[in-house]
Amino acid sequence: MAANSNSKMPQNTITHPPWYSPKTGIYNSIHSPRNLPTDPFLDVVSFIFSHPHDGVLALIDSSSGSSISYSNLFPLVKSMASGLHKMGVSQGAVVTPLNPVSSVAEIRKQVNECGVSFAFTIPENFKKLEPFNIPNIIVPENEKDLKYDCFSCFFNLINSNFDLPQRPVIKQEDTAGILYSSGTTGVSKGVVLTHRNLIAMVELFARFQASSSSSKNVFLAALPMFHIFGLSLFTTGLLSLGSTVVVMNKFQIDEAIRVIDKYNVTHFDVVPPMLVTLTEKAKRVNGSKLLSLRRVLCGAAPLTTTIINEFVQVFPNVDLIQAYGMTESAAVGSCCFDSDKFHNYSSVGLLAPNMEAKVVDMNNGALLPPGRSGGLWLRGPSITKGYLNNEEATMASIDKDGWLNTGDIVYFDENGYLYLCDRLKDMIKYKGFQIAPADLEAVLILHPEIVDVAVTGVKDEEAGEIPVAFVVKKAGSVLSTKNVIDHVAEQVTPYKKVRKVVFIDKIPRSVTGKILRRQLRNELPSNL
Ligand code: AMP
Repeated sequence: MAANSNSKMPQNTITHPPWYSPKTGIYNSIHSPRNLPTDPFLDVVSFIFSHPHDGVLALIDSSSGSSISYSNLFPLVKSMASGLHKMGVSQGAVVTPLNPVSSVAEIRKQVNECGVSFAFTIPENFKKLEPFNIPNIIVPENEKDLKYDCFSCFFNLINSNFDLPQRPVIKQEDTAGILYSSGTTGVSKGVVLTHRNLIAMVELFARFQASSSSSKNVFLAALPMFHIFGLSLFTTGLLSLGSTVVVMNKFQIDEAIRVIDKYNVTHFDVVPPMLVTLTEKAKRVNGSKLLSLRRVLCGAAPLTTTIINEFVQVFPNVDLIQAYGMTESAAVGSCCFDSDKFHNYSSVGLLAPNMEAKVVDMNNGALLPPGRSGGLWLRGPSITKGYLNNEEATMASIDKDGWLNTGDIVYFDENGYLYLCDRLKDMIKYKGFQIAPADLEAVLILHPEIVDVAVTGVKDEEAGEIPVAFVVKKAGSVLSTKNVIDHVAEQVTPYKKVRKVVFIDKIPRSVTGKILRRQLRNELPSNL
């Protein structure tokens, strides 16, 4: 029907969906907001255990088969708190998870910056922590070595009165954890996450993962728990929903398949290289395997369409969903919810409840509507209060109104689904693990034959991205690619190794001295 020129309706009106306000340029979640607890005095552990559920088995160790039931878990947690209290921890403890394969320099940095006073580890890793004068190092087994205490010293109060004499008063705003991330630029930094941030994370994740059969769901936890993805899965999939979590020490595909079949695992959260390995393996295993799997959630790094299509073909009955988040947002960002009627595999889902987003034009700062791509800013209760002892980095990432610059280029489609287009920030993602180019540059520049250096990520089919070092050698130096790779490998966690080296005459920099990493990528030799 032709438009009626007498109509009172304004002509050419663009109708915007209810979750986007053209006036403010702010996107809201399509899902209704979740009520977060208002009591300022609340810690994340009490919050988790306050969720009613009918789960029976909480944790299963995949290799030994030993398990902890829900009815034993809370007493164990309380007993551990009581043990810590007895050993002098008087206020709420702050946790900083450490990658066990960190180099000596990386451990030193984290231990010193966070002021670690207790370390929990396994006997094999005790030696790595010994040089740092950490007052208490605790290992699970009693090795009869007086140098360290064992876990059982915390659990000696089980079945007795383990209530703390004076329960420390913990506020939601208190720090609960410090996880490491480079953010949009610079070296890796401690991201300070409060109890409030983690409560928001638990609430959002728990609700989206909740279904009538939550307590019958079996999760396989094979992601590293020093990363926010693994940590969030562990605390939400399991504890607040009453699901069973089978914990694997380390992801290994044959063992993962055995464990999925043995424990009838229904939910498996992965990063892209794990998804590829699972798909490849599933093509070759007997058809009766992996039948219990119902949902695979992939996050932390991009999935290509080819990988998605292969997976969907091999696992027609498994729901594949992507989720997006970052350490600074306590893993909360977007996700496809189980209840979504429709979802596009290549999208990272809908904005999580309680979160707001802005898409900002990189050239003029204009706020962009659905369909237009720009820099993503997030605001909500799970956003970090900042970087540990680093006001400058905090102010550069979070503005005065609480918006966090994610450093990702994205757009929302007309149904509210979010798509990631590019990563503007310096961070490299190798198999889902973060690598800060600045961390590698700091190691490289100390080499006596290197006068200038820049590191950037380049696309790689298997790993997603690999770090490539652009090196300016000292005049007359005979430094080889192998020398450079070995120099870095000796000083960093294995996944952070420089994989390729390009020798160049000059590092491209802006007038302010900032490395022009995008330009560097254009200088990559075609045969690299
Ligand atoms: P991290 O703090 O290590 O979790 O890294 C966060 C960054 O990982 C994000 O800012 C994105 O650049 C990237 N990322 C997270 N989830 C995804 C995803 N589903 N797809 C693509 N990139 C992702």
